[in-house]
Amino acid sequence: MRIIPLGTSSGKPTLNRNVSATAVVGEGEWWLFDCGEATQIQIARAGISPHKLAGIFITHLHGDHFNGLPGLLSTMALDKREHGLTLVGPPGIRDYLELLGRLRILFVNYPLKIRELGAESFLGKPVEQVYESARYTIVTRPLDHRIFALGYRVEEKLKPGRFNLEKARQLGIPVGPLYGMLQSGNEVRLADGRVIKPADVLGPPRRGKSVSYCLDTRPCENAVELARETDLLIYEATFTHEYIEEARLYGHSTAGQAAVVAREANARQLLITHFSSRYPDPRPLLEEARSVFPATTMADDLLEIEV
Ligand SMILES: [Zn+2]
Ligand SMILES: [Zn+2]
Repeated sequence: MRIIPLGTSSGKPTLNRNVSATAVVGEGEWWLFDCGEATQIQIARAGISPHKLAGIFITHLHGDHFNGLPGLLSTMALDKREHGLTLVGPPGIRDYLELLGRLRILFVNYPLKIRELGAESFLGKPVEQVYESARYTIVTRPLDHRIFALGYRVEEKLKPGRFNLEKARQLGIPVGPLYGMLQSGNEVRLADGRVIKPADVLGPPRRGKSVSYCLDTRPCENAVELARETDLLIYEATFTHEYIEEARLYGHSTAGQAAVVAREANARQLLITHFSSRYPDPRPLLEEARSVFPATTMADDLLEIEV
């Protein structure tokens, strides 16, 4: 998967950083996490096609995380999108979009499947699956912000094990289409009547890659669970340690706290983002996080990371 931060500033855009949005690009489809104002311009700059956008996942209803929705949804209507789009977010997002529709401000003529999740959606079950395609799933958990907020995790499904050519030769399987059938999980019958099972020539199934997205939030258990063993944790680092009290008050994390979540979750990599505009140069945030979790990168608008 390719990860492209489209906006990395908290609260308001600066001349170098747009407000929150991140594209996670998979095989044949991609997903948008948050959609701050002007996200559609950033999508164009990143060179990714809204046509392949499969779902939008909003964390919470602070303006810098969803004000770009009407524009992006309208543009896809202008571009004659016909296939459906999944939209997941906290309660209120449906009312908001339906009101704009009633006021004839927003026109969406393709199927928009809106799913709202509030605190009551997590009674008795800490995690909810909100998206599934042939290759990927996306789950959500509530985080700990000033208002209700959701964190997300994209997971690639288990991949078939590696094809053992040597074994296939030993078993006398003729080179050709039978290899492909076995690789995609089907039994095959050879000319001499023997039946070969996929497990005879495939190694153990391989773990898929995962990307976790946690903003805005105080450090919390659900953030750690979303980030558990993840390949890349995208996590907010709004402040440096000297503003730890402010972070707690406003429902945010410091760079050091972001790094502690990554370490506790045993994440492979941490990408910090959502920087307060009081840091025109956010390198102090990067240094603070790296002192706890060395495998930290600092997000910039349109930077690309591969997992
Ligand atoms: Zn925010
Ligand atoms: Zn917020």
